[in-house]
Amino acid sequence: MEGKKRILTGIRPTGPLHLGHYAGALENWVGLQTRYDCCFLIADYQVSDYADDVARVREAVWEVALDWLAVGLDPERSSFVIESLIPEHAELTLWLSWFLPLGMLERNPTLKAEMEEFGRKSVPVAFFTYPVMQVANILMTRAHLVPVGEDQLPHIELTREVARRFNRQFKEVFPEPEGLVGRVPRLVGIDGRAKMSKSLGNAIYLKDTPAVVNEKVRSMYTDPTRLRATDPGHVEGNPVFLYHDVFNPNREEVADLKARYRRGSVGDVEVKEKLAAALNTFLDPIRERRARFAASPRRLGRRHRPRPKGGPDHDGIGTRSPRPRLPREISRMTAEGEISG
Ligand code: ATP
Ligand code: MG
Repeated sequence: MEGKKRILTGIRPTGPLHLGHYAGALENWVGLQTRYDCCFLIADYQVSDYADDVARVREAVWEVALDWLAVGLDPERSSFVIESLIPEHAELTLWLSWFLPLGMLERNPTLKAEMEEFGRKSVPVAFFTYPVMQVANILMTRAHLVPVGEDQLPHIELTREVARRFNRQFKEVFPEPEGLVGRVPRLVGIDGRAKMSKSLGNAIYLKDTPAVVNEKVRSMYTDPTRLRATDPGHVEGNPVFLYHDVFNPNREEVADLKARYRRGSVGDVEVKEKLAAALNTFLDPIRERRARFAASPRRLGRRHRPRPKGGPDHDGIGTRSPRPRLPREISRMTAEGEISG
């Protein structure tokens, strides 16, 4: 590991992962594993389900771990971490909250959108603490690179701001991490809305069965201006073709479908059937690996079984990573009274 640059990135356990997670993040992570010292974090302190359904958070940690293994993240090579199992993540969050102006959080477009979506009741303080926690997670490992989907870039900007402030005020402690957006910065939902998201109910999950995938693709939003198969259709911005571009490796087939769609010589049914077939071909090996791991968690070995805090045992994925330490400089400054703790 000596000499390799470090990556820290993560996912919030809100349920099983979908094609948006794959295209925006996982695909990239899998490839980066060989070149970087990677730490993949399940951010179980950062989900609003804590407000009403802790059991669901635990279940979702398991779902995320299974999806990770299924797509080829490798816990022998990279560290898998469950946030709540490593108290230093929460501790550093508190420290760093002194270095982050509230205004920056209030202006953060991703946060704003999430708060609006949360809608009900009043907004929990956690909407402001969880981004600080992301900052802490990244800085704790002194990561150089953070591969994420586009919507997470504002959070990385927060991290850079905190690192700069801290370094300026004390000494160069933290590298300023770079965000790294993958091949697909933001995958649209099957309903055509800007982001595939679990909470918007417009997702195709990595674990969906072929029948479910077929059904979801059949119902996909397409060109609303096209009433008959003989009408010339729009390819640009059409989610069905966006997905073809991302997931159908048969470029000739895609080019042919696009040309015929523009001319009005192919129906939506055929375009969608071919998309569903491509998606199922892509998902088949992922589903198969997932089912194997799910059927026999023992295959993972006790060490690798994920258990968020409060579970029956604490020797899961989370504790396998080298235990992070608060930066030495923070401990030293505390001891010497440079920062009062
Ligand atoms: P959901 O809304 O479905 O719960 P999320 O955005 O809350 O998903 P996170 O845990 O915040 O999921 O994000 C995990 C990673 O996946 C991030 O890097 C995020 O940018 C990426 N991601 C999630 N959805 C998409 C998408 N539709 N397109 C591209 N990247 C995505
Ligand atoms: Mg989520």
